[in-house]
Amino acid sequence: MKIEFYGVRGSIPTPGPETAEFGGNTPCVFVELNNGGQVIFDAGTGIRPLGDRLMKNNHPIHLLLSHTHWDHIQGFPFFKPAYQKGREIYLYPATGSAEQTMCTLLAQLDGVNFPVTANQIGCGMICHDYHTEFFDRKEITIQSMLLNHPGGGSAFRLSENGSSVAYVTDNELNPPGTPITTFEQWVEFVRDVDVLIHDAQYLPEDMPLKHGWGHSLVSDVWRLAEAAQVKTLVLFHHEPERSDSEIRQIQHATDEHFRDRLRPFRAICAREGLVLEV
Ligand SMILES: [Zn+2]
Ligand SMILES: [Zn+2]
Repeated sequence: MKIEFYGVRGSIPTPGPETAEFGGNTPCVFVELNNGGQVIFDAGTGIRPLGDRLMKNNHPIHLLLSHTHWDHIQGFPFFKPAYQKGREIYLYPATGSAEQTMCTLLAQLDGVNFPVTANQIGCGMICHDYHTEFFDRKEITIQSMLLNHPGGGSAFRLSENGSSVAYVTDNELNPPGTPITTFEQWVEFVRDVDVLIHDAQYLPEDMPLKHGWGHSLVSDVWRLAEAAQVKTLVLFHHEPERSDSEIRQIQHATDEHFRDRLRPFRAICAREGLVLEV
């Protein structure tokens, strides 16, 4: 499978010269499976350029939403395949029913907050829960786990013939109070995964103010990657206040942290245009 990053920024788009290197689009990750299947994690503003690309084929699209916070759905009204007559787009909800999630997604297109209304969408959007024909064959599997995040949501682990990616964003590994999913459960969920994409929005100086806001410290994500023996770690959902040079410092600290590690391992700060093949 090929994993491509179209949006890596958390909370709000951050265009401008200070963020041009890592990118300012909100979350969207595209996975092209070896069998040609097209899977998208989240519909942040990064889904707009991805949509332009997907207009060049007519294959079905599988859209998995981690949750419906604004930064994860705000690109959808600008996703051109949604306006293609008869284009099959399968929507898999994070929590609640598929219909509820569809309503939230389409509620943006109300003719007031956006000029086009939902009934002008021509695509054949189809609501599904996870275990449907596409994800329920022997070569492709999808698993989910509940996020520690205000309002809830889901993480996903997608596997194809032994290759795997875990998409875990808007997740606080060490939340105040009792976590919905414990650190140990996260270790099991992502154990031995080829690519772990994990929320790493915060640094120690963001605390204690932002403890409980539903995002993780970079150092907690390092700990998870080590405990679960993942092969590649991608630090994701960058803090909107963080400039390129500050993210480069996080990359440097990450390189230092893992410097003496013996087995093959990579840890990368996500940036738009990053492509990983597993
Ligand atoms: Zn977010
Ligand atoms: Zn969120």
